[in-house]
Amino acid sequence: MTFLKNHRNLAIFGGSPKINYTFKKYRSIGLKEVAAATKVVMSGNLSQFLGEYSPDFFGGPNVRKFEREAEEYFQVKHAITVNSWTSGLVAAVGAIEIEPGDEIITSPWTMSASATAILQWNGIPVFSDISSEDYCLDVAEIEKNISMRTKAILAIDIFGRSSKIDELIKLGKKHNLKIITDSAQSPGAVYHNHKASTLSSIGGFSLNYHKHIHTGEGGILVTNDDHLAMKLRLIRNHGEVVAKKLMKTEYNATIGFNYRLGEIEAAIGIQQLRKLDKIIDRRIEIANTITEGLSSLEGLKLPKLVTSKENVFYAYPMQLELEKTANRHTIVQSLRKEGVQGLAEGYQNIHLLPIYQNKKIYNYSQIPWSLGDRKISYDKGICPVAEYLHDHSYIGFGFSSYKMSRRDVRKFCDAFKKVWSNMESLKSV
Ligand SMILES: *Cc1c(COP(=O)(O)O)cnc(C)c1O
Repeated sequence: MTFLKNHRNLAIFGGSPKINYTFKKYRSIGLKEVAAATKVVMSGNLSQFLGEYSPDFFGGPNVRKFEREAEEYFQVKHAITVNSWTSGLVAAVGAIEIEPGDEIITSPWTMSASATAILQWNGIPVFSDISSEDYCLDVAEIEKNISMRTKAILAIDIFGRSSKIDELIKLGKKHNLKIITDSAQSPGAVYHNHKASTLSSIGGFSLNYHKHIHTGEGGILVTNDDHLAMKLRLIRNHGEVVAKKLMKTEYNATIGFNYRLGEIEAAIGIQQLRKLDKIIDRRIEIANTITEGLSSLEGLKLPKLVTSKENVFYAYPMQLELEKTANRHTIVQSLRKEGVQGLAEGYQNIHLLPIYQNKKIYNYSQIPWSLGDRKISYDKGICPVAEYLHDHSYIGFGFSSYKMSRRDVRKFCDAFKKVWSNMESLKSV
């Protein structure tokens, strides 16, 4: 009888929802950013970059100040700002000087730009499977994807955690591969005492408005290598002009773009970066509260409780153990009906996008794939863990989009508990 009552209680069966309001939108911009941006606007100096070798080749006062503060925060020799992290990724792949047809190993669980950055230089992305534990590249899977043409690993520090960077570096040394890290979702995350992206050949962060801190659009490249840093700065700012003046033949083959960050964005970025640690601490606190709140639910795999910045939680990842629960779609629909917002079924399987399935980025030619030494497969089945998680068991809570109060978190957990207490009836839906 109580079973039936509860069953009827679920919002998906017409009961009243646990949450009947929308969570507040996350916002990291405040009065400090307003003041900083206003000061730049009033100065009239909205950019000071010059595409020739001079002090202004390195940008205006706010760009340079932002970069020095980023070097301090991330503890790296060079921080180089760019107008988006997509630009940063393209610059990173260009800086390591691959040849058309060379291969770079990357993850299918990322935003599409990580892999298209490789295609921009006519490199060939090779997708290697992820670990179901941290959703980053499974290091044990990488080696079988290495060929004579592999030049680098582009690892993604997804959802707020660093990849296992020491193992990647070891593998890179063994096979003479550069390591590029995409920490767009993990700024300030710490792995074995080092911040994410600070041990790779080149790493970096997004300043897009979806991320922990932002400047609307923007990005930061980081490296400890002087040569790579110069190459990145040349690619950022019309390097083909500058290389001649540098009188260094090693930079002669550089093609540059305009990936420069504006002064307004840089001034806002300075303020944002100073807030990052506080933002991370708050994220961890909320995530831990959710983890504690949901820990008793059968068949729901949650992230570990976090005591340091090992996870800065861009998303809150969960997995269903489907032998113990109803199917994912039924559960997620039930949760949505209870008023839970920001849930996603699955994440990404980049290798299944049409450009990879058709191996075409130009109308006629099959470059870069036709320049390679071997046939690269993007067939379904090449990344079974990523595919299973995406198709069946992964649920993401995009809590970086919300400013969650304690009440929101409590209600969020209550809605999950309500759905779980009706799991038997949901199994038969
Ligand atoms: C956001 C994101 C990017 C792209 O960054 P933009 O600044 O939006 O260009 C790349 N990779 C990952 C993993 C991201 O989350």
